[in-house]
Amino acid sequence: MKDGYCRNINYMRLSVTDLCNLRCNYCSPEKTQFRENTSLSGDELFEICEKAVSLGIDKIRITGGEPLLRHDIIDICRRISSLSSLRQLAITTNGCLLSRYARDLKLSGVNRLNISLDTLNAEKFREITRNGDISDVLEGIKCAQIENFDDIKVNVVLIGGVNIDEISDFVELTRDNNITVRFIELMPLGECAMWDKNKFVSCDIVLDKVKNLKRISFDGVSEVYKIDGYKGRVGLIRPLSNKFCDKCNKIRVTSDGKIKTCLHSSDEYNLRGLHGDELSEAIKNAILNKPLEHSLTTSCFSKTSRYMNQIGG
Ligand code: SAM
Repeated sequence: MKDGYCRNINYMRLSVTDLCNLRCNYCSPEKTQFRENTSLSGDELFEICEKAVSLGIDKIRITGGEPLLRHDIIDICRRISSLSSLRQLAITTNGCLLSRYARDLKLSGVNRLNISLDTLNAEKFREITRNGDISDVLEGIKCAQIENFDDIKVNVVLIGGVNIDEISDFVELTRDNNITVRFIELMPLGECAMWDKNKFVSCDIVLDKVKNLKRISFDGVSEVYKIDGYKGRVGLIRPLSNKFCDKCNKIRVTSDGKIKTCLHSSDEYNLRGLHGDELSEAIKNAILNKPLEHSLTTSCFSKTSRYMNQIGG
């Protein structure tokens, strides 16, 4: 499907819950209010995926909140991966429950896995995540590596004064592991929008610190680098220092059933309760109205009122 600017939209990020077992300080509020579960059911999620795939979506990424908190996550993945025109089913997780789920995710048809990990230091991890245990994530990554996913990526959000000193250590992980470590620029949305400017660091700092990285390709919105002789790769994602809206091929569906056609826009299009042609029309209409670009800079905040855990990254 083409949007109003002739971009081919073939990628959907599907949030299956906004609940999370971590409280990363740049992503979610410290306390979430108890409320009724507003997440789409397994049937609703499948219906949206089926329709989106029939309209040309061929890559779906399941996200959250933390998707592995859903008790029916394996069933959700199995049903979505059965859609014959779907080329890729991926999941983004904080990795805490991955040692329990890695095998079943692979068996259910998930072929790509992104694991978020912003530090290799246990104490810092506890601070960033507001009490998470890094050993759960490291164990999860080990289990995932055994399962032969097509691709495993470790996503690191760069935070000035917090993890810049660990860039080389993260790159070193690619020496013996066939994984991609991707550095992502922190975006000013939610609580971190109020943070000091020096926390927002350009991905250029990775190239400054690791001189022997060689650019080998582009993978969607990520610049891909490698060090000669290393098994893995390094990716840079620059939503601020090199806006990539002209290459944007995605839509997002929130766990309460709204399409967001731009992460940073306040526009949302309801899908919940729609079926058949009405559902198709709502998806097509949202895609046609996808904005040309976001207006985000380190001093111009995101226009969305949602926290990232309510969108899915
Ligand atoms: N719980 C899963 C996880 O931790 O990967 C999926 C949801 S999380 C919202 C998805 C991704 O969004 C994570 O990699 C997280 O680091 C990233 N993220 C959250 N807030 C961000 C921000 N302000 N700027 C850049 N990335 C952010």
